[in-house]
Amino acid sequence: MPSANNPLITMDITKIRADFPILSREVYGKPLIYFDNGATTQKPRCVVDAIVDEYYSVNANVHRGVHFLSQQATELHEGSRETVRRFINARTSAEVIFTRGTTEAINLLAFSFGEEFMKEGDEVIISTMEHHSNIVPWQLLAARKGISIKVIPMNDRGELLLDEYEKLFSDRTRIVSIAHISNVLGTINPVKEMIATAHAHGVPVLVDGAQSIPHMQVDMQDLDVDFFAFSGHKVYGPTGVGVLYGKEEWLDKLPPYQGGGEMIQSVSFEKTTFNELPFKFEAGTPDYIGTTGLAKALDYVSAIGLEQIAAHEHELTIYAMQRLGEIEGMRFLGEAAHKSSVISFLVGNIHPFDMGTLLDRLGIAVRTGHHCAEPLMRRLGIEGTVRASFAMYNTKEEIDALVAGVDRVRKMF
Ligand code: PMP
Repeated sequence: MPSANNPLITMDITKIRADFPILSREVYGKPLIYFDNGATTQKPRCVVDAIVDEYYSVNANVHRGVHFLSQQATELHEGSRETVRRFINARTSAEVIFTRGTTEAINLLAFSFGEEFMKEGDEVIISTMEHHSNIVPWQLLAARKGISIKVIPMNDRGELLLDEYEKLFSDRTRIVSIAHISNVLGTINPVKEMIATAHAHGVPVLVDGAQSIPHMQVDMQDLDVDFFAFSGHKVYGPTGVGVLYGKEEWLDKLPPYQGGGEMIQSVSFEKTTFNELPFKFEAGTPDYIGTTGLAKALDYVSAIGLEQIAAHEHELTIYAMQRLGEIEGMRFLGEAAHKSSVISFLVGNIHPFDMGTLLDRLGIAVRTGHHCAEPLMRRLGIEGTVRASFAMYNTKEEIDALVAGVDRVRKMF
């Protein structure tokens, strides 16, 4: 089955769906329709197989092992780092730090950067549409160091106000930390332009790429971004592994985040010297099996092609917005000109939780609530939304089912 009616989309959705065993299961006797991809994506068989294979045939702790298995496991782990480097076009694999996910990556940076470069009265710029993961670490730093947080406002369509952004810079601004794509609104922020603005003020930028990495080509060198965070599980990889990319010249200057094995060069009770990049930031046994799974997932995505995936998801999004828009009482939250495959909505006065629960009974998995973005909910004047978020394996037929389901729920109220 071709992806859609667009002749430019050549990827075979039926074949792709067959790679994801979970998509053929039923819930409540109905075929599963999985529209909660913004929270986590499903895993293709090749990712799970790679994890199982490594546990069964290669497992050994990595680095410094003299024995065969340890060296093989190390080669796999460091090979995975190189796969990530290639995927995001970092200059060197020393710029790829493995973390538990986006959240840990942002915490790492807020801690280390804050330790080295921020003092009382300094400022960080974030935006109205940040996930809690890109708010709370800065608040913890604020409590520790007395820094202040400035927030870029947005318009009612869910687009950041770039003129206002520019006005937030002062001689105390030390870093900008912004989402690439909003997990609620689907807005694709013009991060390349925003990075250039920050650099014109001599300020580095962290981009939270949790929602962009599965949906669009990201190129660290082209963006000229200083730091970039993402999670493996949102890009068809396993849970518990993610990445903090950082420009080497920045990472070299930052102090470690956690202490322990792996991150040291030598230790005495008097003094410890730290390991070189990227190990300085990777205390303890890394999730070397998870990194294998992540690399497999990125290879899987690359083989299909992010351009194909993006085109298919764009088509699904346009179709869903149009079809859902025909439902009486439909209100979209997030109608930015540049939007990814995340659709947040409310219907009449129906509580999102009721909508989500009733859709679930029809086999349709959506997410409801504040989506870890309470300040954004406050800006929108609502408590929560229903969110449908699409991935490469979703189809127009599934969207038809969603539209029918939403309309059915509407009629019940
Ligand atoms: N930022 C954004 C924009 C997200 O959507 C998410 C996950 N919902 C995160 C950060 C946090 O990611 P994780 O829980 O994988 O660390």
